[in-house]
Amino acid sequence: MIIDDARALLATGAVCDSCLGRPFAERSFGLTNAERGRALRTTVALADDEDFEPTDPDTCWVCEGYCGTFDAIAETVVDALSGVEFETYQVGTQVPPLVEENERLLREDAGLEPDVGESMKREVNREVGRRVGAKTGTDVDFDRPDVLAVIDLAGFDPLEAIESGEVTSHAVDVQVNPAFVYGRYRKLERDIPQTEWPCRECGGSGVQLGDDGEEPCEHCGGSGYMYDTSVEQVVRPHVVCAMDGDEGTFHGAGREDVDARMLEGGRPFVLEVKRPKTRDPDPSELEAEINEAAEGAVEVDGLRLATYEMVERVKEHDASKRYRADVVFADSVEAGDFEAALAELTGATVEQYTPQRVDHRRANLTRERTVYEIGGELLEPTRAEVRLHGAGGLYVKELISSDDGRTEPSLAGLLETDAEVTALDVTGVEGEDEPFEREAYFRDEPRS
Ligand SMILES: [Zn+2]
Ligand SMILES: [Zn+2]
Repeated sequence: MIIDDARALLATGAVCDSCLGRPFAERSFGLTNAERGRALRTTVALADDEDFEPTDPDTCWVCEGYCGTFDAIAETVVDALSGVEFETYQVGTQVPPLVEENERLLREDAGLEPDVGESMKREVNREVGRRVGAKTGTDVDFDRPDVLAVIDLAGFDPLEAIESGEVTSHAVDVQVNPAFVYGRYRKLERDIPQTEWPCRECGGSGVQLGDDGEEPCEHCGGSGYMYDTSVEQVVRPHVVCAMDGDEGTFHGAGREDVDARMLEGGRPFVLEVKRPKTRDPDPSELEAEINEAAEGAVEVDGLRLATYEMVERVKEHDASKRYRADVVFADSVEAGDFEAALAELTGATVEQYTPQRVDHRRANLTRERTVYEIGGELLEPTRAEVRLHGAGGLYVKELISSDDGRTEPSLAGLLETDAEVTALDVTGVEGEDEPFEREAYFRDEPRS
């Protein structure tokens, strides 16, 4: 009988309502453990016709007072989160081992299963969480909350906290999870890397050691970078600033060569902002700001507030690519032969042995990639513009040049002359099976 269990628990010593109710936490959804405990204490007193004696947490041998500190903890959590905008939270608690031992002893002394009901950890998480939610108008999220508060019960004295209504801020560690902005970028000039590229001579420090001590690095002119700027450096500061965060990380859906432009449809990216104080800046304002500051070298488009999952999506989602290439031939090419070669390459499955220009630390292997579509125009007998759409991972420069026969078939091979790409632009990066931009990955409404 439940009343016998309650009587046995009360016989172990002074037990507060929460600690008395917690072994019965699986009964009667909608009650707090304190309400369960209070009802059981009342029932036992009535059944045995004894005086009703409430037991406050500060005299409870099990929780040693912690069950009386939920309000004080919540107050401290809300304080620690002041100035941070969030919609969802989660609370985690570290319970001192001695208190966990008390919980086990309570049940054991009363002849109950050692882990019956719920743990104190869960009760603190829920009770503090409910209070934080009510004070801030936010919702609990067990999966991926905007903020996480971790409470270390050993970090404060529960009796002092009950007395003062406060908990030292050292006992609460607040973590703010990153926020994400998705968009597409275009790179309208060549020789702009996608991400920051520290100088290889000075390691990014911008200085080298001369006869008279430190002097500006000769290789990078003291900037610390191989190139003056990067897409990342153009985009990141504005997004970090708009979200009032600490720092940002750029995630691209693949990358083009430094000397290739990224035109037309652009390339998807996600900018991740660490410790944002604001999670919902106006994406169209942000976009205008970035584009104005970039002065034409880089453009961004279609900025949206994105979910955490969008990072993996831009990195992993299979994408086909569109290209535009300037091609130069060693010998004159007949228009008819040029057309025939392109027709032969359309829909072709190309075998490509790892190109000579690719990092030699990468394993050499032959892979197959499909050319979905290829067309072009012979501008002069030895000069052409080629446009193509191919599967992700297709080496385009080698499709044109043959890379000394390592790519088969190739435009050079079919025309039986050397061919070289002198300028390459990526004109589109598109999801193979479905677009990158699915609504499930966005946190804001589509822009009209
Ligand atoms: Zn207690
Ligand atoms: Zn340098």
